[in-house]
Order: sequence, then C-alpha cells, then structure tokens
Amino acid sequence: MSQIAGAFEDRRIRLVRAEAIVLRRRDLGEADRILTLFTRELGKVRVVAKGVRRPLSRLGGHLDLFARTQVLLARGRELDVVTQAQLLESFLGLRHEPWRAGWAGYLADLTDRATADADPQPALYDLLVESLRMLATGADSFVIVRRFEMRLLVLLGYQPELSNCPRCSKRLRPGSLAYAPEQGGILCAECVGSTANEIPVSVGAVKALRFLLADQWHEVASRPLSHSLRIQVEAVLRAALEALIGGPLPSATVATILQQPEENHEQPATPLPGTSS
Ligand SMILES: [Zn+2]
Repeated sequence: MSQIAGAFEDRRIRLVRAEAIVLRRRDLGEADRILTLFTRELGKVRVVAKGVRRPLSRLGGHLDLFARTQVLLARGRELDVVTQAQLLESFLGLRHEPWRAGWAGYLADLTDRATADADPQPALYDLLVESLRMLATGADSFVIVRRFEMRLLVLLGYQPELSNCPRCSKRLRPGSLAYAPEQGGILCAECVGSTANEIPVSVGAVKALRFLLADQWHEVASRPLSHSLRIQVEAVLRAALEALIGGPLPSATVATILQQPEENHEQPATPLPGTSS
C-alpha cells in the first residue's frame, strides 16, 4: 500500500520549465553544484544540478556562470533539481576580457541581492539579459552598468527623486545641489547641508542621471563624460542601491578595479564622496 502510494507520489513530481540566467554557483559533494538561477517565470530560485561536474554530464556546458538557459526543474520541498538544461545564449564575449566578466559578476550579484526568492520580475530579467548582451560586445561599461543600476531601482520601486527637492518639494534649479541618501533624492541649494552623508552633484551629473531615469541612455553614451561626473553618477546610484539592499555592494569595488583599459582612470579605486562614514 505504502509502496504504491510512494510510486504515485514520484510520478506526481511537479516539473516546471523556465528560462534562466545563472547568477551564482558553488560545488556540492563530488560532482554536483548548487546554482542560484534568476528565472523569467519563477524569479530567483536555488537549484541542484546533479552530476554536472562529471565530464559526460548531459547538463555540462548548459549551466555556466551568466549563461541564459532553458531549464526543466523538478520542484523540491527545499531545493529544486535541474532535470534538463538547454543553453540559449552563452554571452561568449564576457569571457574574452576580465573587465567584462567582472561587470557581469557585479550585475549578477546586484540582481541576487536586490531580489527576493520566488518573486518573478520579468522586466528585470529582460533587463539583465539585455545588459549581459551589451557587456559581452559593447564598448563602454560605464553606461551599460549605470543604466542597469537605474533601471533596477525603477523596476523595484526605488527610483531617485531628480526633479523636485525631496525636503522642501521645490523644483530643482541649477546651483550647489547634493544627493541625500536618507531622502532618496537631490536636495535644492537651500536644503543642502541639512542631512547626513550628502553627495555633492554637478548640474551635468543631474542631467546624466535624468537621462538614465528616462532610459535615454544613448544620450549619456553619446556625450563625453568627465571623470568627476562619472564618479558623481556612480556614487548617487550606489547610495540608492545600498538603501535598497540595506548594505554595501562589495563586488562593485572589484568590478571598478577591473575597469576597461580605454577608460584608464588614474585612481579607479578612489573612495566615492559620501560613501564612507
Ligand atoms: Zn529644498
């Protein structure tokens, strides 16, 4: 009786098909891996890929880091198990230069930290795919990464206030402005200095942030951006992301050190204004 019931249960294992990006992976036992997948249909899930490290595994090569892959998952009580995987896109260019892989790792880490388990975010999934594709082939990681950061904030409901001062509600006008992490927006000249950890921003940086907010990233990509403007835009987005995540973004520093050669900043690891205590 119980044997029959057990067999019936086995046949009722729920299989789910999903498209996924491999955000993270770690070895388990002799031949398995635990993967963190960001799927379009199910959101973020942790799964086991059994035997994936064996040379002749059917899953091998389909579940590499950052790969876009179609998976068939057997839903488990704790972890799902990958029963089939079919590689859709490997973003091969990411493997050609360390800075590309470094930034891909940053986007994956950010996605992992900013999302909850089993909370589908199809628009964010599409953004991640598009951004990995751009990173694999594109020239300017700055615009690709900052655009991803801003879109992620918008999609998760944390978009910065860039039109009106969040403290006095007045429309922002050119002057000495600063981003206030506590208020989640740019303070007008009169309110600057009233909150902690403010990040001074130039009018040019506010413009670049507004273009990113409107997803007009081509406008940012088509202009020469000074080093100080880049630092300001990066610092504002980082502060907004840290408010969303509730902690620091360690891999951002690693990716910054892996800055692509043509940008060739003299001091890529310089601490950003307002981010240190
Ligand atoms: Zn104000």
